[in-house]
Amino acid sequence: MNVRDLRHLTAVLEEKFTGSGEPRFFRAPGRVNLIGGHTDYNDGFVMPVAINREMLVAARPRDDRIVKVYSCNFEDARSFNLDRIEFNREIVWINYIQGVAEFLQESGCSPGGLDIVLQGRVPLGAGLSSSAALEVAVALAFSKIFELEIEDVKLASIARRAENEFVGVNCGIMDQFISVLGRKDRALFLDCRTRDYELIPIKDSSFKIVVANTNVEHKLAESAYNRRLQECQQGGEKLASLLEGKIQKLRDVSPDEFNAVKDKLPEVIRNRCQHVISENQRVKDCCRALLDNNLERAGELISLSHQSLSSLYEVSCAELDLMIDIALNIEGVLGARMTGAGFGGSTVNLVENQVVSEFKTRLVREYNDKTGIDPDIYICEIVDGCSEIPGNWNEKIRNKHNNQS
Ligand code: ADP
Ligand code: MG
Repeated sequence: MNVRDLRHLTAVLEEKFTGSGEPRFFRAPGRVNLIGGHTDYNDGFVMPVAINREMLVAARPRDDRIVKVYSCNFEDARSFNLDRIEFNREIVWINYIQGVAEFLQESGCSPGGLDIVLQGRVPLGAGLSSSAALEVAVALAFSKIFELEIEDVKLASIARRAENEFVGVNCGIMDQFISVLGRKDRALFLDCRTRDYELIPIKDSSFKIVVANTNVEHKLAESAYNRRLQECQQGGEKLASLLEGKIQKLRDVSPDEFNAVKDKLPEVIRNRCQHVISENQRVKDCCRALLDNNLERAGELISLSHQSLSSLYEVSCAELDLMIDIALNIEGVLGARMTGAGFGGSTVNLVENQVVSEFKTRLVREYNDKTGIDPDIYICEIVDGCSEIPGNWNEKIRNKHNNQS
């Protein structure tokens, strides 16, 4: 973001709301998960990075209990009362903010009313988690303006509850965690069970993370997701009796334990379990590879993740597989996989700097030739988690304004 963005947000705030006072500015990034597909609900491991597609928020306090929000993206203004928060059946987007306010209050904080302007730069529904960026940016605005002193993990948990329990989306903790805790040029190795995490430095700057959206969304996604949940549950139960161990989730089974008994499982269940158990190992191995600065190995693990998601877990689709195929045929692509729930959505690719531009051209052309669809390509930088954008921007804006007039 730059001075012009903040000036624009300030102008919108002034145009849409009648209050006065200096706004404060906040940002929260979207994310992409480098590896760890469908491991989260099996209590396993994931490894997202925060990316330079962000939600920007301008906010200033009101002297009542009303929260007024204007979304520049939707060109829509909505409001609610902090003492009467009710799920809005017609206007879905306001629920993300109501949910944040609800769980801030439930967790013992006392936020007041705010005027808020949202400017989202995370593409909506592209699998980059615009929803978490929205929740986190708004939660941070409440926290800072009303001096709620919320520490990072709690902020992420409140944002997650907003989406999970208020909006009603079945999501893990990854998206909100990375949007809060992410760090520039680091990946977040996250244990979805214990919430232990480690920031893994990515020292090598010779490559870019490139996200490509297939721009397809197959209807199967939700029913298949629920079926996978059941299949993993069944697999876990069968393995628990076969291994006579304390197994709550597939996370508790090591690759060696699995290999010793896998032939006793029905084929489909065996494949699902094999994916999850090997994927957890791949996340750990990828972590090691990054720490060793072994980019080739990290890329290889990412590509193996895709193969496993596609053939064993069966959550890919023709368009995703095609995109991966095109990507891996380009010299200088270190690894590529689908990311997110599957049946459409995006791929994540590790691409050497010198071929990024060729990668983009070829992927767009070859994907379009075969499908007739234009993909969206996002070349990403790894950025810090949410933060306040320092207030002296206001000063700068004013100075700039004065100099111009
Ligand atoms: P994503 O993968 O981008 O998180 P979701 O469907 O989970 O997709 O979240 C997208 C939803 O989040 C939007 O439909 C909207 O309700 C809300 N949202 C995201 N960004 C904005 C914004 N800038 N203004 C208003 N609502 C937003
Ligand atoms: Mg989302």
